[in-house]
Amino acid sequence: MTQIAEPQVERSETALPRINHWIGGRQVAGTSGRTGPVYNPATGELARDVDFASIEEVDAAVRVALDAFPAWRATSISKRTEIMFRMRNLVEQHREEIAAHLTREHGKVRTDALGEVARGLENLEFACGIPHLLKGGFSEQASSGVDVYQIRQPLGVVAGITPFNFPAMVPMWMFATAIACGNTFVLKPSEKDPSASVYLGELWKEAGLPDGAFNVVHGDKVAVDRILEHPDIAAVSFVGSTPVARHIYTTGTANGKRVQALGGAKNHMVVLPDADIGMAADAAVSAAYGSAGERCMAISVVVAVGDVADPLVAAIEKRLPKIKVGPGDEPGSEMGPLITREHRDRVAGFIESGKQQGAQVVVDGREHALFGKSNGFFLGVSLLDRVTPDMDSYRNEIFGPVLEVVRVPTYADALQIVNENPYGNGTAIFTRDGGAARQFQFDANIGMVGINVPIPVPVAYYSFGGWKNSLFGDLHMYGPEGVQFYTRGKVVTARWPDPATSAVDLGFPRTR
Ligand code: NAD
Repeated sequence: MTQIAEPQVERSETALPRINHWIGGRQVAGTSGRTGPVYNPATGELARDVDFASIEEVDAAVRVALDAFPAWRATSISKRTEIMFRMRNLVEQHREEIAAHLTREHGKVRTDALGEVARGLENLEFACGIPHLLKGGFSEQASSGVDVYQIRQPLGVVAGITPFNFPAMVPMWMFATAIACGNTFVLKPSEKDPSASVYLGELWKEAGLPDGAFNVVHGDKVAVDRILEHPDIAAVSFVGSTPVARHIYTTGTANGKRVQALGGAKNHMVVLPDADIGMAADAAVSAAYGSAGERCMAISVVVAVGDVADPLVAAIEKRLPKIKVGPGDEPGSEMGPLITREHRDRVAGFIESGKQQGAQVVVDGREHALFGKSNGFFLGVSLLDRVTPDMDSYRNEIFGPVLEVVRVPTYADALQIVNENPYGNGTAIFTRDGGAARQFQFDANIGMVGINVPIPVPVAYYSFGGWKNSLFGDLHMYGPEGVQFYTRGKVVTARWPDPATSAVDLGFPRTR
């Protein structure tokens, strides 16, 4: 790999009283007088406050991004690529520090946090290939002496608005491609775990990205709505819950912006009678409870077909007592706390409502020793069997460590459940029958499908996105569709002057 000298940047740690914005290549203290609390979910303690941007502060970030755009856009592709390589190397070099921010503010366990950084890193690696990705087409002699070619150009200032559950990876999904394509970027991360985004800003500076090309404004709806209205922002990428995604898409497009807004999910794992029970149970447990179920690609429903249900539920149940719930920075912890006390209690409420509405609570996470007896936002794992689609716990996205089992007699019933669900992010089928798997891939009305793979998050050189209420917009995120999203095509028709053949012709240009 090319070794590139890295300029040294003094990196601030967590000593500052508040988490500040990152504007124009430096930390900028908020002046709005509004802040939000950032907790350590493992202890329940308030860690620090984060500044909430006013309209004027968002405007200031957009202004520096707009000022930085002409020079960044004009920077040669080779130089931009060099900076992308440096950023890729810095993120890898500092993955432990980034992961520590994630564990401290999100609560996810260290191994999971490192996994998040690794998946984000893939997007930077993809963006290191930007010279190839930005190649256009060229048609020689489209007409006599006339050539036609297409180029892709950046949009200008683009914004990203990101959720709490992937504070490093989702911003990387967006900014890696956006910046490599020549855009400048304003990020509004989740106010619940905002430190990683500022840290990434510091790494960008160290990588040599010009000041102003990457900015972070913290905040709430005030900042988001200003982004959606700002006349100098050309495009908005959003990842979060479905109601907010819908608002972002409707308002952003009404203001003339290009928008991709990824929403919530309810991901089903269909298990056919011929599946390997042990493998399906391992996959269901990993995909349901990893990151405490706070993943948009988590499996939240197992659809058990035919007589697979009894042995499968038993195999899942058998695995649950072994899951070690605890603080993310404690060695051996496999599942950390939830993001806030309110969210933990909401999730626990779905266990109760499931029970009230007739589900069989096989394992109740509220019985875990850390639930209620610790100040951290812990909840044990839960397994609900005999769930039906009319129950509240099925109809809502729980976003917690609760796995539900729906029993159906046939493949057709399973497919109907998957396809009638309003969300369409991910789904998986477990079977040894290649024909059945292929049929499912053909039939599923869902954006990402796994075949014996429970969390089919596409690698960075494909694109990520759901269907139905899981995505508003036309283009999926990162990968080739990300390049399309962050650039627009321009077609040039060129003829070099040849006075000998020049004549006045008022007819429509012909090619033959
Ligand atoms: P959220 O929608 O509450 O917040 C997302 C972002 O929107 C945050 O930056 C937040 O500050 C902002 N926001 C919140 N309410 C707003 C409002 N009323 N107006 C304007 N902006 C607002 O989501 P979250 O709780 O941070 O994240 C969890 C959700 O994200 C889940 O629904 C999950 O499925 C979804 N998610 C989806 C994907 C995907 O790829 N489809 C990936 C990760 C998370």
